[in-house]
Amino acid sequence: MEMEQDKDEDIAKIKHSMRTSAELTLEPHNTRLRKFMKQLPRLKLKKNVLYRKFFEHNGDYYLQMVVPEHLEQELMCRIHNRLQHAGKQKCNQEFRKRFYFPELYKKWVSI
Ligand SMILES: [Zn+2]
Repeated sequence: MEMEQDKDEDIAKIKHSMRTSAELTLEPHNTRLRKFMKQLPRLKLKKNVLYRKFFEHNGDYYLQMVVPEHLEQELMCRIHNRLQHAGKQKCNQEFRKRFYFPELYKKWVSI
């Protein structure tokens, strides 16, 4: 997954800045990068794989792997199929136990 993440330009930029503590350049037209930047306090780099902390109501959190853009659809399909073509709510709930990408919920319509 480390290498797959690095194929994603936005994720690679975030990871680079986290590794080097370099300031991220704000790219006003790159809305996806801006969405990632909003998540910065929740992002965590572990063995060079990027995760996002998902907080439960009681304050505990678990780590969601950040999904590179070129794998979003494939992973969504896989979960949708594994859940025997369940609806958006159920698929989304299952997906976010392990994975994160910006605007996940919106993207279920295209499945
Ligand atoms: Zn289906």
